[in-house]
Amino acid sequence: MTTIPPFDLSEQFKLIGSDINQAVLEVLASGRYIGGATIENFENQFATYIGASECVTCNSGTDALYLALRSLKIGAGDHVITSPFTFIATAETISAVGATPVFVDIDPRTFNFNLDQVEAAITPQTKAIVPIHLFGQPVDMTRLMAIATAHNLAVIEDCAQATGAEWAGQKVGSIGHVGCFSFYPTKNLGACGDGGAIITNDPELAATVKMLRDHGRRSGYYHEEHGVNSRLDAIQAAILQIKLRYLDTWNEQRRRVADRYHQLLSPLSDLVLPHEIAGGRCVWNQYTIRVTETEAERRDAVKRALQERGVTSMIYYPYPLHQQPIYQSLGYQLGQLPEADRAAREVLSLPMFPELSELQQDQVVYSLKDSLA
Ligand SMILES: *Cc1c(COP(=O)(O)O)cnc(C)c1O
Repeated sequence: MTTIPPFDLSEQFKLIGSDINQAVLEVLASGRYIGGATIENFENQFATYIGASECVTCNSGTDALYLALRSLKIGAGDHVITSPFTFIATAETISAVGATPVFVDIDPRTFNFNLDQVEAAITPQTKAIVPIHLFGQPVDMTRLMAIATAHNLAVIEDCAQATGAEWAGQKVGSIGHVGCFSFYPTKNLGACGDGGAIITNDPELAATVKMLRDHGRRSGYYHEEHGVNSRLDAIQAAILQIKLRYLDTWNEQRRRVADRYHQLLSPLSDLVLPHEIAGGRCVWNQYTIRVTETEAERRDAVKRALQERGVTSMIYYPYPLHQQPIYQSLGYQLGQLPEADRAAREVLSLPMFPELSELQQDQVVYSLKDSLA
């Protein structure tokens, strides 16, 4: 029995390994490891790819969110509406700038936040909204921007799982006031280490992010704000330049894998398959099904049975953020955000990466059929 991991970067390295080796050696020989032309070239290429005028790279997707919030002057006393069904970084950074995350429930079909609830949660304290294009599926940005504009709110897109995804023909990250990207290795565009970027059409905001990522200075040793050290390494930028050329192909392969899962799994009645909303183009960072909770902890039993058959599935996410120890003080009650709670009990992400072969996928599917029986 072969085993199937949730993601596998080794096939990708076989394809582009020699290009990566060469690019890394060039940076090493150049002696320029921080800043410089390699960083600027990648920033220009990534801005062009997303379809915006400005890109500023930084150390991680988490830092991209933090720097975006700081640049928009969001801080103590401010409320920021977001989803509780996401990776901790989305809310953690809101807290890190001193603001308060306000969690609204999710749409059970998309796992993204419910826009009726976003609108209903707006108060005079609300300063911004952070949509997450979770698992690669875009939020309805037309409606979200209309809500934000009507209430004069900033929109910070968390695009960590959605590099290359589109809403209404535009790449996510170019639609809100600022888009935040992660180059963590398993994201759609991944570095060989940590990395992140912000994208915006606002040159002033980009300049503020640049200043904050470099100790709050614009030049020399004159510091006008409390900044941080959050730079992308030139080695990572060189690697990302190579990988960016393949991103559309890899996203297309992810779409093919998702289509085939859809075909093969749709006859199984007690699964709910992910739903792609009209107007969006999903890039399938994850293919996340629901194992309907006909009995307690059924999903966990299915996950274990899959593992016994050599298939590693993942749970993104087992605890919604309003249930996390760090957010107990916000006082959310059990049952207040029922769809996020239910998703946490039912979701199961199947192996998903561009190079997943049909043979491997067949093994996932028959193992899943067995595991459900
Ligand atoms: C990965 C991720 C982040 C954080 O990115 P890092 O580069 O790991 O810091 C933020 N939000 C979401 C939704 C993510 O998946």
